[in-house]
Amino acid sequence: MPAPLTDLSRCSLHTMTTKPWSLAQAVDGYRRAGIPGITVWRQHLQAAGIDAGAKLLRASGLTVTALCRGGFFPAVDRAGREKAIADNRQAIDEAAAIGAPMVVLVCGAVPGLPLAEARRQIADGIAAVADHARSSGVRLAIEPLHPSYAGDRSAINTMAQARRICQQFDLELPGSSAVDRKVVGIAADVYHIWWDDALEDELVLAGHHGWLHAFHVCDWKLVQSEMLNDRGIMGEGCIPIRTIRGWAESAGFRGFNEVEIFSTKYWAEDQDALVAKCAAAYLAAV
Ligand code: ZN
Repeated sequence: MPAPLTDLSRCSLHTMTTKPWSLAQAVDGYRRAGIPGITVWRQHLQAAGIDAGAKLLRASGLTVTALCRGGFFPAVDRAGREKAIADNRQAIDEAAAIGAPMVVLVCGAVPGLPLAEARRQIADGIAAVADHARSSGVRLAIEPLHPSYAGDRSAINTMAQARRICQQFDLELPGSSAVDRKVVGIAADVYHIWWDDALEDELVLAGHHGWLHAFHVCDWKLVQSEMLNDRGIMGEGCIPIRTIRGWAESAGFRGFNEVEIFSTKYWAEDQDALVAKCAAAYLAAV
């Protein structure tokens, strides 16, 4: 297991962690708390306006770690799939505008659509936008979601499934580090993949091949009131976060550890206090 982190220099917060805050409030709050990184969710960026948001972020001194999220490629008809591809092109443009190195992909699933078909459509959708991503200087990070989301959020549920899509592409972005040199890679989120007995091997493989784009942290509470918005702060649940961070780092990962917590409970609290809690938990449990 790696040594505990002694400072916040690799800490990033997702704006969804502080969902009630506007982009301007998040920038201000993270800076006051000494958090150097920010992953921007599109709803917060679009509410601020793309140009105004980009200007705000540039002036903030914060490192933009990613734009969340693109994806949702599968659809029951061609029009739906084309709409998704257009939206992903727009997400890539938004990422480029704010200096985000990647768009995180929640790949999508449609109730009733066979998972194998959804997976084909996801690979096709990524293929349709990958060149645009490369020419925009933006990576695409496939985020495998826990299998409990296979019904309607993502047909990509394991690191191995994400890897098999990455293996279909050989696009590189010049100037990037070895561990994330490929345009199409993976956002590894401990919430979704901690249970996987192939996790260590897959992280090492992803790092070796240049697919390890991002590392997300929160915790898995043993009792969750619902599937989406009751995630725990690091240390509150059963995920061996520090061990998994060690695996990512043994694979060469030196990027930000992104705190991404969907929680109706925490969104109802004072958000400054929540950021302070996240910072303390980051040092104690990540
Ligand atoms: Zn995530």
